[in-house]
Amino acid sequence: MLHLPPMQLTCSGTAALVIALTTLKQRYPHKPYVIIPAYTCPLVALAIHHCGLKIKLCDLGHNTFDFDFEHLTQILDEQVLAILPTHLGGQVADVKRVKALATPYGITVIEDAAQALGADVGQSGDIVFYSLAAGKGLTLFEGGLLGASNQNLAIQLQETAQQIIPQRPFFEAKRIIELLGYTALYNPFGLHFVYGQVRRRLVNRGQLIEAVGDDFDFSIPLHHVSRFRQNVATHAVDRLPEFLQQTRQQALTRIKQLQDLPNLHIVSSNSDNITAVWPFIMLKLPTQQQRDNILNELWASPFGVSRLFIYDLPNYTYLNAIIPPHSMPNAANFAQTMLTITNSLWLTELQFQQILRVIQKHVN
Ligand SMILES: *Cc1c(COP(=O)(O)O)cnc(C)c1O
Repeated sequence: MLHLPPMQLTCSGTAALVIALTTLKQRYPHKPYVIIPAYTCPLVALAIHHCGLKIKLCDLGHNTFDFDFEHLTQILDEQVLAILPTHLGGQVADVKRVKALATPYGITVIEDAAQALGADVGQSGDIVFYSLAAGKGLTLFEGGLLGASNQNLAIQLQETAQQIIPQRPFFEAKRIIELLGYTALYNPFGLHFVYGQVRRRLVNRGQLIEAVGDDFDFSIPLHHVSRFRQNVATHAVDRLPEFLQQTRQQALTRIKQLQDLPNLHIVSSNSDNITAVWPFIMLKLPTQQQRDNILNELWASPFGVSRLFIYDLPNYTYLNAIIPPHSMPNAANFAQTMLTITNSLWLTELQFQQILRVIQKHVN
């Protein structure tokens, strides 16, 4: 379905990245650095740290989730083990361009497709991983997929997983209970009252990092995925093509309406002839004030308007020890001026129109 070689199932996207980096570190012990976008999931930074490797940040380009390629060119050298182009919000990053820059230095390209299951990705990089965590589309509450274009590398990834991933049945039992709970609540009212209620309380108290779930633990759970949860995932795969088709159509219709508003930038893939997916729609406002005004009206509503990661990586205090302290102006600006609108099929047309009106009021 994904037009990729077979992949291995892991207990999370982060675990998939840990397996990939551990494999590469064994292959290239003299390359200690991993380059990641300065605006990405904090778990990516924690996975690199977990593997005893060092983080190098690349700023974002202007008005995009993708790399600033001028900056990327400056920070490449033989000491770099891997680069992670990241398909944020289901939008496709320019992996071919990264690959061309990386090859002369013997750098491995790992596509972070955690938010892009079903998009046209994984073809140009050396390694690709997806996340099957709750909230990212097809889910087994926590899970991941890992694959490589080269068959030898794919086999090595499997061998590493056998070496470093323990059974830990109690961890898996906890995940099964969490998955059953999530399934029981998987309807507009359940999610609204249980998950939404907690989030709204945190937003109202100003605990933004906690509200969006950016406050991750330094210890990364690594364990086997049970046959039971594998079966849940297999059944979910049957529904995925239709789900992607419906959400794609909804996103394209709604993006058209958003494009009619002035001063609004819709963050999307740079090229039109590739297939993206839309777990949510990313918007960038001209100023932080406008973004905050819109969120003040909508964040506490049940309409699924929120932020992605609260900060660029240098601005998370809890990551200070592992992130180089250089300022990343475009990434910081992206964090300050972007918001997300859910692309859930449960967001009705009426609700979307209400969101549009609030945005319109503040961009005019
Ligand atoms: C969620 C996410 C990850 C980690 O995936 P998990 O399955 O939650 O461990 C990695 N990268 C990005 C961009 C993500 O959004």
